[in-house]
Amino acid sequence: MYDLIIAGAGLTGLSLCHLLYQQGAKPRVLLVDPSPEPLYAPYSPSFDDRSSALSLDSVQRLDALLPSSWRAPLAAMHSIDVSEQGMLGHCLLQAEQQGVPFFGLVCPNAWLGQQLWQQRPAHAELEFSWQTQVIGSQVLADRRLIQLSDGRELSCACLIVADGGRSNLLKQLGIASHQHAYQQYAHVVNAVFAEPIAGRAFERFTPQGTLAALPLAQLGHYALVLIDSQPLNEQQLYQQVQQRLGWRLGRLQQLGKAQHYPLVKRQSQELVRQRLALCGNAALALHPVAGQGFNLALRGASRLAEVLRPAWQQQQDLGELNRLQHYQQQQWPDLQQIGAFSHGLVQLFDQQHSLIRHGRSVGLNLMASSPRAKGLFAHFAMGRPKQPNL
Ligand SMILES: Cc1cc2nc3c(=O)[nH]c(=O)nc-3n(C[C@H](O)[C@H](O)[C@H](O)COP(=O)(O)OP(=O)(O)OC[C@H]3O[C@@H](n4cnc5c(N)ncnc54)[C@H](O)[C@@H]3O)c2cc1C
Repeated sequence: MYDLIIAGAGLTGLSLCHLLYQQGAKPRVLLVDPSPEPLYAPYSPSFDDRSSALSLDSVQRLDALLPSSWRAPLAAMHSIDVSEQGMLGHCLLQAEQQGVPFFGLVCPNAWLGQQLWQQRPAHAELEFSWQTQVIGSQVLADRRLIQLSDGRELSCACLIVADGGRSNLLKQLGIASHQHAYQQYAHVVNAVFAEPIAGRAFERFTPQGTLAALPLAQLGHYALVLIDSQPLNEQQLYQQVQQRLGWRLGRLQQLGKAQHYPLVKRQSQELVRQRLALCGNAALALHPVAGQGFNLALRGASRLAEVLRPAWQQQQDLGELNRLQHYQQQQWPDLQQIGAFSHGLVQLFDQQHSLIRHGRSVGLNLMASSPRAKGLFAHFAMGRPKQPNL
């Protein structure tokens, strides 16, 4: 019998594995994923890699799990330029003014996934089952039964559902979720600009949607997330990027291969049940406007591990509902806060009435002139939403 079975070896599931084996704990864990086993081949960066903005809080958490070389190919965000197209509202946040070396790091997801995989805890108690899905589960008094797509039926004290934002498992388990389809697409693409500003990220609100530009390690290279109400072809995307960003980074010289995602917020209505806990995008899949999805997932995985590790060390039952509710108590308010903030930001900047646009512009300028407001926003960006006075 396993202590834990984790469904999903995405960034959340892999991070949780690391966290569970901290401080000498050695629970018996099986990680299950339908993908093939990741290759050992050295990471070869591709111009089209998708990247995420890791908050300072996430960087510090990952520093505790990985050797310092994990940071080597990553760019630091030293400043964030927030503005609205066609209005005077503008705010420049600078890390040094907030007393921190940087706001966060921009990290290719493939690089982080490979680091988490290659540096995984080397314990016989940690097993993997690739090209396999969890397809069903029933709870018994003393364990949970898990059915896998390869025909096996296994037992564990607790199932962790980390199978992402389109979780089929939650439907199978009868866990309801609230969904909000934004009628928008995220176009994720890398770009090269002629006049880069080292270490500066841009968040540009425009009537057509937001454009975020995150600096990559190679000067002039940026990871872009452009939100639009429709799918755009290559030429339309090129025009939209240059038109929305203006000449802040000079001429757009090169655009990579874009990936398009229809945007949906999906929040599960339960986080724990007897012998069951949800983690990562399975618990809350967000609009990417605030770049908080994985940062939130990593805080959640840390909280879950902090509940499960001591229980394992004291030889207690890992699946008891009372125990899992400690995780819920800490993670639920964070989910609500980040969910409401991201959703609110989308709605606020969707409004195109001239009075509202004017109000937003005034708001951005007020933020620019108020160290306290800047500090609150900056701490949110750094992944410390509850500690505005730090
Ligand atoms: C456009 C865009 C930009 C983003 N930018 C940022 C950002 O800047 N910063 C940030 O913090 N976050 C960002 N995010 C969010 C971030 O990418 C996600 O929060 C994060 O990748 C979620 O990881 P996950 O492991 O929870 O889910 P996933 O990455 O979806 O992984 C789920 C895993 O579960 C597996 N699986 C599925 N079904 C089963 C099953 N039945 N059994 C077993 N395994 C299963 C899948 O194969 C997959 O490996 C962004 C998201 C988008 C869409």
